[in-house]
Amino acid sequence: MGHLLVLIIVALVAYAVLRALTAPRRGPGASGPAGGARGGERMVPCSRCGVNVPESEALVSDGRYYCSDAHLRQSGQ
Ligand SMILES: [Zn+2]
Repeated sequence: MGHLLVLIIVALVAYAVLRALTAPRRGPGASGPAGGARGGERMVPCSRCGVNVPESEALVSDGRYYCSDAHLRQSGQ
């Protein structure tokens, strides 16, 4: 009977250690949605209306950024 008891204790300890190792690691790479800008992309303000748009989606003219084609054209007048 002594061997069985030791086996059970070892199994319980191993189970506890495994849980302690795996439980705290809940998505270390998944940052919360409170980041704002996605992927660290730079936000630039529209020269017409001032709204912030991702640099990759902004329209550039004469070194200025615009949120849409309409604002790009309006600013040229
Ligand atoms: Zn705009």
